[in-house]
Amino acid sequence: MALKDKVALVTGAASGIGEQTARKLAEQGAAVVIADLNMQNAQAVASDIVAKGGKAIAVSMDVTSENDVNAGIEETVAKLGAIDVLVSNAGIQIVKPVEEFSLDEWKRMLAIHLDGAFLTTKAALKHMYQSGRGGSIIYMGSVHSHEGSKLKAPYVTAKHGLLGLAKVVAKEGAAHKVRANVVCPGFVRTPLVEKQIPEQAKALGMSEADVVKNVMLKDTVDGEFTTVDDIANVVAFLAGFETNALTGQSIVASHGWFMQ
Ligand code: NAD
Repeated sequence: MALKDKVALVTGAASGIGEQTARKLAEQGAAVVIADLNMQNAQAVASDIVAKGGKAIAVSMDVTSENDVNAGIEETVAKLGAIDVLVSNAGIQIVKPVEEFSLDEWKRMLAIHLDGAFLTTKAALKHMYQSGRGGSIIYMGSVHSHEGSKLKAPYVTAKHGLLGLAKVVAKEGAAHKVRANVVCPGFVRTPLVEKQIPEQAKALGMSEADVVKNVMLKDTVDGEFTTVDDIANVVAFLAGFETNALTGQSIVASHGWFMQ
């Protein structure tokens, strides 16, 4: 119960990596907030955590909306008393060559991944600083925080940007006991990735099996997907790591696809 008495808000926690992360943080004793656009799934995840003996609430949040984010963080503090851990995880993917991206698609990607990280950070820091409890901010980066891949210009740009944000928050937050780090997964079989397999197959003129074997997992040490549980474990480790020894860092969990 490393996170007993802590309050953790996870964005994009109604599915995939965010959902498993919220479940893991709850297992370790945290009260968790399932923040997502998809309120129906968010409610279902929160109810299931409660049914299993954990503490959880769902809040409706579009991370690109300053009003939604501020309201969700205020609701968290009002109902659960604090915010100690922020996992900025909500994200989407759009795959196509640079020259085919519209400006609207580019802006939407940067808004979800970067504006969302900024807005949730700003709203959470206010409470982490004022309460004197400090906290841990964890951004969901990607191997694409360090590497480029074809067809993913705005995603790669945004995921690289999170490294910069984490470094600044680590420096500014240190005096207030706030740490900021980035978790960088390789490919994890979530709905976000399932959708990409046929899209990449079409764009690259390959079979879906070839996309998995020769694009997604080509550079791993063992040809295996990273799992939601792998990533939830890394996030839980960072959430419970209480000193500034580990801040401003990125941890890559990708079956060796990218080695730092
Ligand atoms: P997912 O599609 O399973 O879940 C994403 C969740 O985010 C969904 O519940 C969705 O409703 C929510 N969401 C989308 N836009 C939102 C918004 N504007 N406001 C609030 N919630 C929103 O995807 P996933 O694979 O679990 O991805 C989670 C994060 O992990 C993303 O940031 C993604 O870039 C990152 N990531 C995923 C992989 C992978 O292989 N799956 C690899 C590296 C990084």
